[in-house]
Amino acid sequence: AWREKIHEWRGPAQTTDGHHAELLVNVQDGPTATTAAHGEAEGIGLFRTEMCFLDTVVEPSIEEQAAVYAPVFHAYQDGKVVVRTLDAGSDKPVPYANSEEEENPALGVRGLRTSGQNPELLQHQLDAIALAAKDHPGKNWVMAPMVATLREAEWFAEEVRRRGMVGGIMVEVPAVAVQAEQFLELVDFVSVGTNDLTQYVMAADRLSPHLAEYTDPWQPAVLQLIAHTAAAGMKLGKPVGVCGEAAADPLLACVLLGMGVTSLSMASSAVSSVGAQISAVSFRQCEAAAEAINQARDAKHARILASQALEIR
Ligand code: PEP
Ligand code: MG
Repeated sequence: AWREKIHEWRGPAQTTDGHHAELLVNVQDGPTATTAAHGEAEGIGLFRTEMCFLDTVVEPSIEEQAAVYAPVFHAYQDGKVVVRTLDAGSDKPVPYANSEEEENPALGVRGLRTSGQNPELLQHQLDAIALAAKDHPGKNWVMAPMVATLREAEWFAEEVRRRGMVGGIMVEVPAVAVQAEQFLELVDFVSVGTNDLTQYVMAADRLSPHLAEYTDPWQPAVLQLIAHTAAAGMKLGKPVGVCGEAAADPLLACVLLGMGVTSLSMASSAVSSVGAQISAVSFRQCEAAAEAINQARDAKHARILASQALEIR
């Protein structure tokens, strides 16, 4: 029945027993943010900045970068905007940030690691984000992709905070999920990138057409790591979002909420179906689903257990 109501659904999302679910959108530039702003999402949960520069050979100046970022903040004047610093490398090389050919680019110098060889790139980008956001009365959150160590997390959060913004990291490397509590003590928030987290937990290339069974975020080991991260966030009272494809799956979105995940960010085309599904269940059912999947043997079994707990067929 919830499927028939998708087009009528209006945010903000809440369960039948009144638990609010913060639904956000993933965007890649000003135009996608402006389009998304016509929908029901409350803000932006992932601005993939590297998508603006996939063909850019020379690093743009701080002012040029700020001009690219500013329309994204304008699209969500009063909402939260979570900007991700360049996730350059691997499947999204940025010419001015990635120079070397690598044997295993997904395990190589990508994301925050690019700043090891060229620290100025990140400093300039953070200055540009702060400049673009200066007239944005909403909240400016900035997070780093592909963080793996506590030292990286602490350093990054400090760099963001000293520019007056909220500093966090993505949970994409399994090491971060395992040590979630220690990471959360150092940063203001985390956001789980389930596409890469699944790739690294299951040792399966997310771009391979042959490995769909492995690159499924319903894999029990992936779900357990997300649950572990969400529990750490609840314990410390810090936000734990999910911004990978998993957040766009209406059934999985309910399970994530039940784990204690505080926001879900997805393609704007998915917001209504996720919102309508959340509005059709209670938070108690979501918690029961999150508990039930601990018994799952495989991804298919996890889906069945979640559907049963949520009474969805
Ligand atoms: C992810 O890895 O889940 C994520 C949100 O980042 P991207 O898909 O851009 O790598
Ligand atoms: Mg990623």
